[in-house]
Amino acid sequence: MSTTTTPAYDDNNVFARILRGEIPCRRVYEDEFALAFHDINPQAPVHVLVIPKGRWVSFADFSAGASAQEIAGFWRAVGEVTRRLGIAARGYRLLSNVGADGGQEVPHFHVHLFAGRRLGRMVA
Ligand code: C5P
Repeated sequence: MSTTTTPAYDDNNVFARILRGEIPCRRVYEDEFALAFHDINPQAPVHVLVIPKGRWVSFADFSAGASAQEIAGFWRAVGEVTRRLGIAARGYRLLSNVGADGGQEVPHFHVHLFAGRRLGRMVA
């Protein structure tokens, strides 16, 4: 029996609007599974967001409901973004906020990619 509390997907969230081309973004990479673009409020010299094309509120419902092809395609795209940005040699950080306690603001699953300087210790 499912115990998920994931809210319904809001088709007017800002990342849905970016996917539809209604709001501009500084695109880094796009394929059939994912779109990557620079965060408008960067927290590191490189701060890119990678989002799936599907209607997933967060990692919680993406991991539970997306097909194996979507999941593989999304994470492969994340890897492709790191290679295109040329950050693999020095390292980077992947992070995804989930829900209220996770501090998620935009209700479309996204992975933050930070790089370009020695990042501080994670703060819980
Ligand atoms: O993980 P969380 O939902 O808190 O992060 C949302 C991120 O989306 C923020 O880093 C914010 O700067 C970014 N954002 C963006 N472009 C927008 C709206 C939000 O890059 N138009």
